[in-house]
Amino acid sequence: MTEDIPFWKNTALKDMTRSQWESLCDGCGRCCLHKFREDDTDEILWTNVGCRLLDQDTCLCRDYTKRLRRVRDCVTLTPELLETLDWLPPSCAYRLIRDGLELPDWHPLISGTKETVHLSGASVRYRFINERSVTILEDHFAEWPGEWPEPITTEQK
Ligand code: SF4
Ligand code: SF4
Repeated sequence: MTEDIPFWKNTALKDMTRSQWESLCDGCGRCCLHKFREDDTDEILWTNVGCRLLDQDTCLCRDYTKRLRRVRDCVTLTPELLETLDWLPPSCAYRLIRDGLELPDWHPLISGTKETVHLSGASVRYRFINERSVTILEDHFAEWPGEWPEPITTEQK
């Protein structure tokens, strides 16, 4: 019956194929928002300001293959790095799997469509400002990127 078990439940993150690993990403785009670390408490403070390459509509990177050359602080997520990160949003599939939690129903691997990521409120679609339009990042702190997603209307920012 093991063939009925989805790969993310019976394959360690470090043993996944590249394709399996990549498919875990739900494409929410939250990790591409700017954030700060509070000096005293180490708390992550999120903003609603997105990387200049983050697409407002798809919530994907507009130059994924060259992103590391174009954006200095962009990172490539690996199983090793994942063990050390404390700033991924709570709904990030890598964080959920790492922490032994279930993927939500709206994850594309379960729903079969990326649209559910937007409908669930997990994605950053229409909710962020491009960094090119922002002068002072600290003027744009936001709590929602660090919280579990709630469904939103497209009118909400
Ligand atoms: S937060 Fe996680 S699931 Fe969302 S885009 Fe980033 S890596 Fe993918
Ligand atoms: S370069 Fe692309 S993947 Fe990296 S933070 Fe910017 S939008 Fe995200």
